[in-house]
Amino acid sequence: MQILTKIKKNVEVYLKEGKLHCSNDEGHDCIHIHFALGLPEVGRLKKK
Ligand SMILES: [Zn+2]
Repeated sequence: MQILTKIKKNVEVYLKEGKLHCSNDEGHDCIHIHFALGLPEVGRLKKK
């Protein structure tokens, strides 16, 4: 999914093995992930 943030114009954040992964930082604990986790639709994805 594409996540729009104020930090970077367009960063791709996707689910990988049940965790959100940021294509910009190649990790799962950056500001984009925290931003994405705050989105209601992403919160719904995380809850099984
Ligand atoms: Zn990031």
